[in-house]
Amino acid sequence: MDQTKQEEEYGYDLFPERKPGEHKKTSIAESLFTFNHKCQVMLQFAVETSPYAKLLLSAMKSSGCKVFKDRHFSCEDCDGTVSGGFDAASSQIVLCQNNIHQQSHMNRVVTHELIHAFDHCRAHVDWFNNFRHLACSEIRAANLSGDCSFTNEVARFNFGLKRHHQECVRGRALRSILAVRKISRAEAEKIVDEVFDSCFNDHAPFGRIPHSKRDAKFAYRDYMNRDRYYANL
Ligand SMILES: [Zn+2]
Repeated sequence: MDQTKQEEEYGYDLFPERKPGEHKKTSIAESLFTFNHKCQVMLQFAVETSPYAKLLLSAMKSSGCKVFKDRHFSCEDCDGTVSGGFDAASSQIVLCQNNIHQQSHMNRVVTHELIHAFDHCRAHVDWFNNFRHLACSEIRAANLSGDCSFTNEVARFNFGLKRHHQECVRGRALRSILAVRKISRAEAEKIVDEVFDSCFNDHAPFGRIPHSKRDAKFAYRDYMNRDRYYANL
């Protein structure tokens, strides 16, 4: 299933309405199918079971940005060690099927990219010209996706939990910006520092930093119950 080629030929990269199963099978396509299929299965599992992903998908739906799995996600082969990306031009989340091999990794990548998609939906983010916008979304994605939570058990002995988490978020945001934009490290550091406090403290739509799956479950439950208080007015 050579989706990338199909997308280019039919302009599906802009408005993808992919219909799995209708692609012609060739021998190359068949060998790609296993990787691609595994990616699709893990993606399905992530959106159905990860409380992080479920919360973000609900929040986006409430904001008028309903996410369709077949249209807004794309499993593709990527260069190097990249795990995923958000393509603002097509509002598509790219999942790197050649670099994601575990469900827990898939869950984190889906969450990270959904935070970018959420920011894209709720605010008019100028991803390409305004580095502060990009930096802010990268800080939020690193802070809220669990990217910086899984090493906590080891790191708390070194730094203390809170400081480690902030350092990790700062470092990851910096690396993400440097990976996609040609600016100097010093310049990127300056931008990240300028927006860090306000973006680090913006926990929408979680309402807290979900340090674990348990936190994320509570955040999801609170989010789903948020209207109950208004229903009786
Ligand atoms: Zn990112």
